[in-house]
Amino acid sequence: MYYNEETVIFYNGEFIKAKDASANLYSQSLHYGNGVFEGIRAYNTPEGTKIFKSYEHYKRLKYGAEVMNIQLDYSEEQLTQITYELLQRNGLKDAYIRPLVTTGSDMSLLTSKETNSVIQCWEWGKYMGDKLLRVKTSSFQRPNPKSCFVEAKVTGHYANSILSTNEAKNNGYDEALLLDMNGNVAECSGANVFMEKDGKLYTPPRGHIMAGITRATVIDLCKEEGIFVEEKHFTLEELKNSDACFFTGTAAEVVGLQSLDDYQFPLAWEKSHGYKLMKLYKDEVLGLRQTSKAS
Ligand code: PMP
Repeated sequence: MYYNEETVIFYNGEFIKAKDASANLYSQSLHYGNGVFEGIRAYNTPEGTKIFKSYEHYKRLKYGAEVMNIQLDYSEEQLTQITYELLQRNGLKDAYIRPLVTTGSDMSLLTSKETNSVIQCWEWGKYMGDKLLRVKTSSFQRPNPKSCFVEAKVTGHYANSILSTNEAKNNGYDEALLLDMNGNVAECSGANVFMEKDGKLYTPPRGHIMAGITRATVIDLCKEEGIFVEEKHFTLEELKNSDACFFTGTAAEVVGLQSLDDYQFPLAWEKSHGYKLMKLYKDEVLGLRQTSKAS
């Protein structure tokens, strides 16, 4: 699914076939989760293939590398240019792009000086599908922001996302919703959350969550479209008293919720702000909006 005989990746400065690449079994990233990655999408727009918010994604990758002391010498512009070339070499117009920076052989707990940078891409539909999601509140919380840099996409942090997704799916649900250490609603295992109540939208503020690029795009869209949106903490009880709810993320895009545990969201999805934003987001990434800021 991710690659075939012909797939090209960018690996340590070169474009090579994915099948010819080898990974280091002594890598600190494999043993301890000290690596950083991104999840980006490119869209086939009327003006050709456009990587959506490439600069913002690579800025976050560089931020993650910096806080983890991982050396990453490429600029956001260089990484963007390399990614466009990679898409072209793979003949991909619509694609999911996965840059990953791993560390070298070192079994100490100090960041290895050696780094490996790889960019992979493949065709990938909407990660959580198009159906409304049946979500389970996770028994796992998002990490304490004093235990790690929650806004960095560090590979090791995703053990928490895997635990919560396994738990939700093993119990017959589609996805997990995680609370923060204070009991407030935080986010999904790989997406941010918005709640609609009485025509207004609310989303948890930064601090315990990934600062999602889709979340920021949706907030901008709300401001442009005159939809009230506020970043504020809310509890599970408030969410289970709300009208509608949706998740946002690069892989998931904008996807609505049908239910949370036993609670069915009462507002029809098609009548909710989430539905409207799902369509506006699609137009935004395709560069079809006049005010489009797609980069
Ligand atoms: N939260 C988590 C935990 C994530 O992994 C992601 C995906 N990066 C998001 C939210 C959504 O972020 P973005 O919109 O930048 O993809």
